Amino acid sequence: MEIAKLLESYGYDGLSVDTGTLDSYYWACPPSYIERGYMVELAQAIHEAGVRIPVICGSRMNDVNIAERAIADGKIDAIALGRPSIADPDLPRKVVAGTPEAIRPCIGCNQACIHRYGQIGIVNCAVNPLMGRPESYAPQRALVPRKVVVVGGGVAGMEAARTAALRGHDVTLFEKSDVLGGNLRTAGVLIVRDRTPALQHSPGRRG
Ligand code: SF4
Repeated sequence: MEIAKLLESYGYDGLSVDTGTLDSYYWACPPSYIERGYMVELAQAIHEAGVRIPVICGSRMNDVNIAERAIADGKIDAIALGRPSIADPDLPRKVVAGTPEAIRPCIGCNQACIHRYGQIGIVNCAVNPLMGRPESYAPQRALVPRKVVVVGGGVAGMEAARTAALRGHDVTLFEKSDVLGGNLRTAGVLIVRDRTPALQHSPGRRG
């Protein structure tokens, strides 16, 4: 907070507030087990310290309701979208269009963006196959549109159907159960909300 006040006095136009260090990078790049919006109260503290320039808050802010509420309540002035923009570059457009349910959310896995960048210097995304390689994976219009049948509404089946439809094919997807999602539904059972550990209890060291 003292540094924020100094930066304002130096003429800075705004502050993008973040937390974490190299040894606690999970706070700066919070994984899925850290609650969305966990940074709001910390960013708000900058205003409460008397800083008047805009405060921007990132890190797990890809819940539209949390972001809107934090801004409406005057806690922060704007949000930063890093990984959510990698997962869905159209996120802001979908909010403006009133279709937030169409947003492809970042799941906080850190696998294909941060981990892969650290390994081979390339940013990809676990939920956005186009990220980092649009030339290879951008769906091309089919020269001859066909009727396509996809059997199975799991992740692979749904993505195959989606991609085929984007290419202009006439797609029918068959699923034996009455819900889509396949094994992802089972995996999702483990998602537990509100498990954010307190800041002083570090979830473990890097590596
Ligand atoms: S790989 Fe994609 S979904 Fe996973 S954390 Fe990175 S941006 Fe989010």
